[in-house]
Amino acid sequence: MIRFSRSNDIRSWGGVLRAPHQVARPLWRDDLPRALVAARDEGLHLLATGLRRSYSDTCLNPDGALLEMTSLDRAIFFEPELRILRAEAGVSFDTLLKMLIRRGLFLPVTPGTRFVTLGGAIANDVHGKNHHRAGTLGRWVKRIGLLRSDGTELELTPQDNTGLFAATIGGLGLTGIITWAEIEVMSIGSAIMEAENIPFANLDEFFQIAQESEGYEYTVSWIDCLAKGKDLGRGLFTRGNHASKGARLPSNAEPKLTMPLNFPAFILNRLSIGAFNGLYYWNGKRKAGREAVPIHPFFYPLDAIGHWYRMYGRAGMYQYQSVVPPENERDATKAMLETISTAGEGSFLAVLKTFGDRLSPGMLSFPRPGTTLALDFPNRGEVTLRLMGRLDAIVREAGGRLYPAKDGRIPADMFRAGYSQWEDFAQHVDPHFQSHFWKRVAQ
Ligand SMILES: Cc1cc2nc3c(=O)[nH]c(=O)nc-3n(C[C@H](O)[C@H](O)[C@H](O)COP(=O)(O)OP(=O)(O)OC[C@H]3O[C@@H](n4cnc5c(N)ncnc54)[C@H](O)[C@@H]3O)c2cc1C
Repeated sequence: MIRFSRSNDIRSWGGVLRAPHQVARPLWRDDLPRALVAARDEGLHLLATGLRRSYSDTCLNPDGALLEMTSLDRAIFFEPELRILRAEAGVSFDTLLKMLIRRGLFLPVTPGTRFVTLGGAIANDVHGKNHHRAGTLGRWVKRIGLLRSDGTELELTPQDNTGLFAATIGGLGLTGIITWAEIEVMSIGSAIMEAENIPFANLDEFFQIAQESEGYEYTVSWIDCLAKGKDLGRGLFTRGNHASKGARLPSNAEPKLTMPLNFPAFILNRLSIGAFNGLYYWNGKRKAGREAVPIHPFFYPLDAIGHWYRMYGRAGMYQYQSVVPPENERDATKAMLETISTAGEGSFLAVLKTFGDRLSPGMLSFPRPGTTLALDFPNRGEVTLRLMGRLDAIVREAGGRLYPAKDGRIPADMFRAGYSQWEDFAQHVDPHFQSHFWKRVAQ
């Protein structure tokens, strides 16, 4: 028996939208068809969710119901020699890493947190620091089990010619329930990373270092989004590779600190964020150079602080992540940074990265060749929305687009303009599935 019950305060990672939801938590794959029937009986449109690490409203469905998949977390088939892993969709990357790293294996693509589920990562076709080498996660997905609301169970592969595989990769949970997935994993020599940190004084230097770093497996940069004038575009570039030798430690790092309460909003202001950014830059500059780093702090520095979103207080935060094509990346990135530093509304966590040209397989996959800038804005209501509107204008003019998993307020026309296949995608949406995001942008 599976039942939906009301949970009062469901939020995504950004926390701007919080609302009561009808929620069911299946324990077994056999529960899923029963959940479909129960939702149908109660007249509820469904959405499967993972660990709700999406910042936006793509994992929310206040007028319908949520199916929390996190108890479906079992490995189904794992063949280390073949580097093939099949698991239920609710398994977290944290759990998978515990199986993989000790065997000299690693995820082919990972986002900046390991607290995401396999199904959620596929439904957003996530990218990582190795996008320029590996593309998105969807390129490594070999098979998907998909359950549609009419009870049909499908096994989809990249060779599928109906379009449903391409719609489900990056499909924001709207094509049905991903029940399990099979991915190809990669070999690594150890659980140690050989990293190098290089300060850059401006955007020209950033693009120069990015070009010289294409041979590195991983690249990413932190950028001081409040620096102005001659300091505009300064930051710290990190590049790295898996060390070929060293310990294969089991991956059992838990968050070391937990943000105890929501911070009052006044603590995050121009002065405190500006001071943090300045200190971070100068500290990074002092420590520039090569170092050997354990695998978790290299990939998941934020996971060391549990519930860090509480720093943004009850009002939550928006994340703004854009990608603009190579021909406009310099001008558009500069214009966005000028707009942000002039407004004095910035974040600690501004990230800049060049994407490579490996094609994403999903119809709605976000990554495309060019430069991506991601940053958090504390939610200050209209002030923040006006600033994001100014950034939208720059991204639109540059022919770029925004990441639906991150941005809980993408204007509908901007989504449609940025994702030219959205109407083809809409043909594959399961008629009994919906999300707050989809209702906002497509209906
Ligand atoms: C600190 C931090 C760093 C991040 N860094 C990155 C990054 O570097 N790159 C990147 O791409 N993203 C990044 N993200 C975003 C995050 O990786 C994605 O939002 C990810 O998809 C979240 O997975 P989840 O399991 O929490 O899914 P949820 O947020 O719960 O859901 C995401 C989507 O997947 C759908 N879904 C979930 N499970 C299923 C299922 N079983 N069947 C069908 N649909 C399903 C949901 O309906 C929803 O549309 C980051 C997030 C955080 C908090």
